[in-house]
Amino acid sequence: MNNPLPIGSTIGILGGGQLGRMLAVAASRLGLNTHIFEPSNNSPAEQVAQKVTTASYDNTEALQAFGQSVDVITYEFENIPTSTLDILEGIKTIYPDRRALATSQDRLKEKTFLNDLGLHTAPFANVENAAEAAAAMALIGTPSILKTRKMGYDGKGQVKVTTTTEMQAAWNSMQGVASILEGFIDFSQEVSVIAARGVDGEVSCYDPGENIHREGILRTTKVPSSLSAAQRLDSVLIAGKILNALEYVGVMGVELFVTSDGLVVNEIAPRVHNSGHWTQNGCDICQFEQHIRAIAGWPLGDGSRHTDITMENLIGEDINRIPELCQSSVALHVYGKIEIKPGRKMGHVNMRN
Ligand code: AMP
Repeated sequence: MNNPLPIGSTIGILGGGQLGRMLAVAASRLGLNTHIFEPSNNSPAEQVAQKVTTASYDNTEALQAFGQSVDVITYEFENIPTSTLDILEGIKTIYPDRRALATSQDRLKEKTFLNDLGLHTAPFANVENAAEAAAAMALIGTPSILKTRKMGYDGKGQVKVTTTTEMQAAWNSMQGVASILEGFIDFSQEVSVIAARGVDGEVSCYDPGENIHREGILRTTKVPSSLSAAQRLDSVLIAGKILNALEYVGVMGVELFVTSDGLVVNEIAPRVHNSGHWTQNGCDICQFEQHIRAIAGWPLGDGSRHTDITMENLIGEDINRIPELCQSSVALHVYGKIEIKPGRKMGHVNMRN
């Protein structure tokens, strides 16, 4: 797909969570329609989209009809089954493409790809059985983190280990699922770069944000970060290198650890990213619009930061703070989820620093 999609075109989005919702809102502002494909009912995204298909990712007929009804396909989560891609790819262009997905779905492939580009990651070793678990521990040392290679998010599928006994227990808890052992990085800060690449190869990066996690879940992102000018430049160059190597189209989140030896890439997410929500109130063109522009073949927008922002996630019961937050001058973003669960992302606020 090389020509820009005309107004009135339809973007197909796999996944109906809050990221899909905010993509749909951004598309709508540009005069584009969205069609959400999501297995569950009443998802955050379907509440604001023009069309929804409620079906599972292995429903061939539903996928075919969805593919035929849209002009381009994107997604809001990276764990899309390969069989789903097989069906959709034959019907419409999918951005970001299969290579970006395959690279980011598997921590082993991801880290190997990054190292091949000359970028630093935590030291790692593949673990597929108890013997490899012991060998990995001898190689990587402690403390280290055992992580499932696939399907991990928000710190799920991860166990920190410091002793042989803990390592055995950690491997047992993985129930035979292929994993990697990562060396524990002694970082001073966690930052992320939200970067975009257009169909024509133009790359645009947002100012890196500084992230605070609690219990594996992102709590706040602050811009500007405390990075030096040199580190800031380094971080956006790293992101640009990754996007160009993948000939990527769309927005990507690149998570980095700041260490005394330089920047270490933690992981890449081939989609709009929670740590980029600050762009909604800190930039003229937010990450959601930027992604829609990229995949629609439109020119990228100006992502420069006009306001210093701290983004705070509203997690679980935090959503009950809405009346109080309404009294202040924060920008409130609520995802329309009715059921409150611990650890569930219900909304976020962007506060001017
Ligand atoms: P992840 O799901 O890999 O992004 O991990 C979630 C969080 O766990 C990260 O944002 C870090 O705070 C922490 N973490 C993950 N991997 C490492 C590592 N190798 N060393 C130190 N902390 C880590």
